[in-house]
Amino acid sequence: MRLKTIEKLCCPFDKNDLSLQILAKDTEQNILEGILSCTQCLRKYPIVYGVPIMSPDEYRQIKLEQPVLERWKLEYGITDTQLLPSH
Ligand SMILES: [Zn+2]
Repeated sequence: MRLKTIEKLCCPFDKNDLSLQILAKDTEQNILEGILSCTQCLRKYPIVYGVPIMSPDEYRQIKLEQPVLERWKLEYGITDTQLLPSH
């Protein structure tokens, strides 16, 4: 997903701005992996396979996300606190 597209996204819960941590890009600067975090409610939305996962919590596909999140922890030193809401 392109950076410009991602910058237009807002938190689906409270419509606040999201901050983006980029983990992996392709050669055309599309973001393949990253973490969006809401500046207000501090929810985290992982970008996996170029797709931001922004479904409500109950529809999150943890089985799909989990292997990617585990790899991030190994490859990028991401911690649980960077992936989970802090409340
Ligand atoms: Zn929010």
